[in-house]
Amino acid sequence: MDFSSLGLSEKLVRATADQGYTTPSPIQEKAIPAVLSGKDVMAAAQTGTGKTAGFTLPLLQRLAETPRKGKGIRALILAPTRELAAQVAASVELYARYMPTSSAVVFGGVKINPQIAKLRRGVDVLVATPGRLMDLYQQGAVRFDGVETLILDEADRMLDMGFIRDIRKIIGLLPTQRQNLMFSATFSGDIRKLAEGMLNDPVQIEVATRNTTADNVEQSVYPVDQSQKSALLSQLVKHNDWQQVLVFTRTKHGANRLTQKLEKDGITAAAIHGNKSQGARTRALNDFKQGEVRVLVATDIAARGLDIKQLPQVVNFELPNIPEDYVHRIGRTGRAGESGHALSLVSADEGKFLAGIERLIKKELPRKTVEGFEPSVSISARPKPGPSANGGRGPGGGQNRGRSGNGGNPRGNNSGNNAQSRRPTQRRETA
Ligand code: AMP
Repeated sequence: MDFSSLGLSEKLVRATADQGYTTPSPIQEKAIPAVLSGKDVMAAAQTGTGKTAGFTLPLLQRLAETPRKGKGIRALILAPTRELAAQVAASVELYARYMPTSSAVVFGGVKINPQIAKLRRGVDVLVATPGRLMDLYQQGAVRFDGVETLILDEADRMLDMGFIRDIRKIIGLLPTQRQNLMFSATFSGDIRKLAEGMLNDPVQIEVATRNTTADNVEQSVYPVDQSQKSALLSQLVKHNDWQQVLVFTRTKHGANRLTQKLEKDGITAAAIHGNKSQGARTRALNDFKQGEVRVLVATDIAARGLDIKQLPQVVNFELPNIPEDYVHRIGRTGRAGESGHALSLVSADEGKFLAGIERLIKKELPRKTVEGFEPSVSISARPKPGPSANGGRGPGGGQNRGRSGNGGNPRGNNSGNNAQSRRPTQRRETA
C-alpha cells in the first residue's frame, strides 16, 4: 500500500516522500479514501497516529479538484490549543508545498493585527483555535460563506476545555452544504451528541492505539490533602452507596492501614497484596466478588490479572508513579462494554504523577471537589511539554497556554494563581 494507490495526486505523494513517509499509517489508509469520497468522517484517532496527514492530504486534493464556491476561506480546521493549531498548520504547509493552496493559522495570546492582515491577503485553509477565530469573525476579518470543509481536531479536548459554545456558534455560521470531519481520541456521550448534530451519515473510522483509556470509563480527579484521603473515601463510599469498589494504594503498608480505617468507619474492606498468603488473597477476592466485602484495597502487582466482572468503581487512593499503571488500574472497570467510573484522590505532592498520566493518556482529567475536603494546597506540577511521542503536546502544558490565549473563552478565568481555578471543567460536587 502506498500513497498513490489511495488516490492521491502525484504532487501530494511527492510531498509525503519529501517527509520520508513510505507507507500510509492505518488511520491514513482509512481516512484518505473516505475524505476523498466527499463524505463526512468521524474518526477515533490520537496524536501520533498520523491523523493530521490523514485529513490534510485528501483535503488538499479536494480543494485542488473542486472549484471555489464562495469568497474567503475554503477549509476551516479547529484545534483546541495553540500548539496543536501551530503543528497542524505546519503540516498543512508541508503537504501543500507543490500545491497552489494558501494557508494560515490563528490563535490567541499573540497580536491579532498580523492575523487580520494575512487573512485579508486571502487564505484557502485556516487553522484556528475557537476563541481567536470568534474574535476575528466579530471584527469582520474572516468570512465563512465560502467554507466547504470543516475539520474538528481533538474534539474531545475542545469539549474538555469548554469550547462547546464557540464551536456551536461557528458551526451555525457556516454554509450548511459542506464536508465535516471530526477527529477525537475518545468518544464520550457529549462527543457523540456533537457528532450527531454536525455530521451527516459519517464514515466511522477507528484504529487501535496504545495507552488509551477506555471511553466507557468516566475518569475524574479529586484534589485533596493526603491526611483527608481516607475520610473522603469513606464519605464517597457511603454517600454514593458504592457496593463494590476496588481501591489502589501504592504500598502494602498503605493498603493495610486504609483497610483498617475503612473498617473503623463501618465499611467492610479487605486488603490484597504481595505480603498476604495466596489463601488470604483468594479469600479476600471471593468475599469481594460475593459482595461480603465492599472495598477491596490492592497494590498494583496484586491487582494484575484481577478480572472481576462488571466492576463499577475503581479508586486510586494514591496515583501510581508509573503512568502506564494508571491505564492498567482503570482498565479494571468498564470491562466488556460495561460503563465504569475511575476516580483518583490526588494530593499536592502527586502533581508530577498526575502530569505524567495526563501526558500519557493525552487527556486532561476533570477536577472535582467535595465540600469539606477542599485541598489546602493545590496540585502544583502541570504537564510540561516534553520530548514525548506527541512532540510535547501534553494536555496541560499546551492547554493552559492555549486557553489563556484563546481570547474568547467566556468561561476561562485566567486571573487566579491556583491552577485549578482556571479549569472550565472543574465542578463542585457534594458527594
Ligand atoms: P500526527 O498523529 O498527525 O500528529 O502525526 C504524528 C507524526 O507521524 C508526525 O510527526 C508525522 O510527521 C508522522 N507521520 C505521519 N504520517 C506518516 C507516515 N505515513 N509515515 C511516517 N510518519 C508519518
